[in-house]
Amino acid sequence: MRIVQHPIELKKELKNVKGSIGFVPTMGALHEGHLSLIKKARDENDVVVVSIFVNPTQFLPGEDFNKYPRKLEADIKLCELAKVDFLFTPNIDDIYDKDEVLIKAPNIKGYILEGFNRPGHFDGVLQIVNKLLNIVNPTNAYFGKKDAQQLYLIKKMVNNFYMDVNIVECDIIREKDGLAMSSRNVYLNDEERQKALLISKSLKRAAKLIMQGVMNVQDIKSEMLNILKPLDVEYVEIVNRNFDKLDKIEIDYTIILVAAKVGTTRLIDNIWI
Ligand code: AMP
Repeated sequence: MRIVQHPIELKKELKNVKGSIGFVPTMGALHEGHLSLIKKARDENDVVVVSIFVNPTQFLPGEDFNKYPRKLEADIKLCELAKVDFLFTPNIDDIYDKDEVLIKAPNIKGYILEGFNRPGHFDGVLQIVNKLLNIVNPTNAYFGKKDAQQLYLIKKMVNNFYMDVNIVECDIIREKDGLAMSSRNVYLNDEERQKALLISKSLKRAAKLIMQGVMNVQDIKSEMLNILKPLDVEYVEIVNRNFDKLDKIEIDYTIILVAAKVGTTRLIDNIWI
């Protein structure tokens, strides 16, 4: 595995590559969720590139940029084991200019839900993903459904800018007890870890209600909110795959999303119906 820090150097190295390139962008502190994306990329491509970069522009003032878990040594080992070919680990100054051209998330879909609670977050996400896709120029890029709105906006950017990459949507990987894997789970103490289970529990309950024929969004939301009562809920929302709010569940076209704080840790999760 080659570890490359500089964007131009990586671009040069990848120019000589023959065959398809699969790319998995991450912020590191790798867990089974990330590894499932890497494995899929490995299975489907000739060359696999993973990036690890804690992107400052997607964190709002007061968020956890400084304390975000950084575990580069362990991540390098995991990437080697997963047979990654190139690990890209840029520094902030290598990849950001002081006064650069900015990408702005769409006015509506970039500023609801996550974008409402974290205004400007998706501007930063799209800025870095745009750069990374231009540096790596992959055939396929892998993103988790865990960050459903991010995935939607990345697909929209690729579409709006006529970018030549196939975006591959990857399923959410969970702990045995249902908690969606996240680098931020390390912030939770034992008590919070237990409370956090209410999030996946509320989503499972929603899925069960739908299986029983409950299609009214308000009914489902109020059951979910009831389960989530002990948490500091930011939103429970039911949208279609285009992120428009729904009144009635549309099978195979619905996403149910939750964002809640457990203690000081903000967690998100969702289920695709
Ligand atoms: P992050 O390091 O949190 O920026 O995540 C990097 C990529 O991994 C994103 O595409 C995430 O959606 C994806 N990801 C994070 N957690 C999970 C998970 N539990 N299951 C599947 N994909 C995930």
